[in-house]
Amino acid sequence: MSDCLFCKIVRKQIPAEVVHEDEQVLAFKDISPRAPVHILLIPKAHCSGLNELTPDVQAAVPRLMEVAARLARELGVAESGWRLLSNCGADGGQAVFHLHFHLLGGRPLGGMVGRG
Ligand code: 5GP
Ligand code: ZN
Repeated sequence: MSDCLFCKIVRKQIPAEVVHEDEQVLAFKDISPRAPVHILLIPKAHCSGLNELTPDVQAAVPRLMEVAARLARELGVAESGWRLLSNCGADGGQAVFHLHFHLLGGRPLGGMVGRG
């Protein structure tokens, strides 16, 4: 999508610190990291979020999980532990409407959700 921030990162119109790229998946460092390791993994094909999964994007999700697990090993958090999450919609805290998964690690991440 022409005006989507993460599509612009896919097209290299906006710079990002890319840590993995293949035909289906791009992974790059979050611009405002919440943990020592904070990577965003996205399907290259546009999809606004988990509410709007298209067949193309759905096909990329297993690959994305595999890449996340490999990056966790490479970035040294596989043993200490890490989290993979996708915020969906307003209550989910989604700010960027191109499906993405946050890979977080490198410190104890606490309980699964805050109290709001
Ligand atoms: P959400 O709240 O939608 O799940 O998360 C969006 C994430 O995108 C946030 O963690 C935010 O820091 C990150 N982000 C927003 N704009 C940019 C950007 O231009 N570059 C990068 N690398 N990350 C961004
Ligand atoms: Zn997009």
